[in-house]
Amino acid sequence: MRESIKTNMVKELLHELRQLVSLRSLKARIFLIILLAGVIPCVFLRYGILDDYEERTVELRIATVQNQLRVVGSHLISNNYLYNIQPEERNGTTSRDVIDAELETISDLYEGRVLIVDSSLKVVMDTYGISEGKTIISEEVIRCFRGENISYYDREHGYIEMTVPIVDTNLPAPEGSSNASGAIVGVMLTSISNESIIDTLEMLNRRAVLLENLMFVCVIAVAILLAVLLTKPLSKVENAINEVQAGYTDESISVPGYSETANIVDAFNQLLKRMKVLDDSRQEFVANVSHELKTPMTSMKVLADSLLAQGDAPAELYKEFMEDIVSEIDRENQIITDLLALVKMDKKAQELNVSSVSINDLTELILKRLRPIARRKDVEVVFESMRQVTAEVDEVKMTLIMTNLVENAIKYNKEHGWVKVELDADHQYFTFVVSDSGLGIPEESLEQIYERFYRVDKSHSREIGGTGLGLAITKSAVLMHRGSITVSSVEGEGSVFTVKIPLIYIPQ
Ligand code: ADP
Repeated sequence: MRESIKTNMVKELLHELRQLVSLRSLKARIFLIILLAGVIPCVFLRYGILDDYEERTVELRIATVQNQLRVVGSHLISNNYLYNIQPEERNGTTSRDVIDAELETISDLYEGRVLIVDSSLKVVMDTYGISEGKTIISEEVIRCFRGENISYYDREHGYIEMTVPIVDTNLPAPEGSSNASGAIVGVMLTSISNESIIDTLEMLNRRAVLLENLMFVCVIAVAILLAVLLTKPLSKVENAINEVQAGYTDESISVPGYSETANIVDAFNQLLKRMKVLDDSRQEFVANVSHELKTPMTSMKVLADSLLAQGDAPAELYKEFMEDIVSEIDRENQIITDLLALVKMDKKAQELNVSSVSINDLTELILKRLRPIARRKDVEVVFESMRQVTAEVDEVKMTLIMTNLVENAIKYNKEHGWVKVELDADHQYFTFVVSDSGLGIPEESLEQIYERFYRVDKSHSREIGGTGLGLAITKSAVLMHRGSITVSSVEGEGSVFTVKIPLIYIPQ
């Protein structure tokens, strides 16, 4: 017992896991959506902020260094640095030394290198002291001489390169030059290290990753919580249905939750109600069939017993009793025939034996057969045909449909009543309407009359030979022809059954 409970639990767990993995479970989907909704913005935010930070810091650094170099540039001009004029000495240092020191400070501060190139593209100063006197022909320098300020950020190698023009405001700007304040007499080619920015970025990135991981854990926790909470009403519905299925209850279930689950529960309750009705009618059927089949048997036994008890009963009495026994056998036969007809209809695969049938002739024939029964009750049967109708139908089943409807109209009629049968057709369907002046059907029974063994007034129906199967057989036969059957009725005034069947049978 314990083992089987264990294996069941393992099976359930595996099933749940499989559902989660295959994403067929709502829980898994909610979990994933919340997870993605929580994590994706975090990652984007981290990359976005860090990228933005890097861009802004690089821009700021370029602007700062360029400003500082511009100041040095103006010093260079005011001290004739580029014109190689011997500067005057003050306290043992020349202004050239001061400028060199300024440049050294900048290159130290930004861990970089500053080259000063004169108009003949010769390097007049290199803070690294290796390129002095050399000629430099680089695109950036030439473009800078044309007045363009160039800066370039090499992320991979971690440095920023920029050029700053040295403008002599005493000289006129050449024509067409964008630098209107003076002539460009030299260029400061500078590359500075970006390592400090990268270090800060890495530190920020580490913090962001830490925060991100923390966030990730929180989002997972929230996602699990919400996935469980949001699907709870569904689990409750499942449990409630399982209880009904296990047979603990057959009452309507009630699970407060979402309107969607309430709809499912409503639909389930309707189904339960319908199943109950079917179950009730099935139980009633068994009781009815037993009763129906037993009644003729009992009568036959009574008749036979009394004949046997008399010993030398006259022949007329034998004849009379035998006639009664025959009529009881007929009744028994009728019930069995109806049951068999219904069972046959139930077989879905059953093929219709379709042929072209004159519905007018068929109706005439059926009415001829039924008129003697009608006469017994003095019920007048009228047939009104609007046109000649020929349709592709199964003649035997069509006969069943018409016979049942007309027979019911006669059976459930008053003395001296009437039954009217109307036949009409359009280009697609033919309509067969049976109206009567009978007892009518109460409104609450209208939906149930097609159910097997349902009878409005059981005792009356049995009395007049009803089995409760006629309309069930009729409806099945109509549906097999892809037709429809409707009824309207006023209690005490009569009923109208309308059958609509396609003229041409189209198999599915
Ligand atoms: P039955 O064999 O009892 O006639 P049916 O399935 O043919 O069974 O009909 C079901 C019930 O519907 C009947 O018991 C009767 O109460 C009601 N019914 C059917 N046709 C009519 C009608 N034309 N007028 C009044 N009641 C009807």
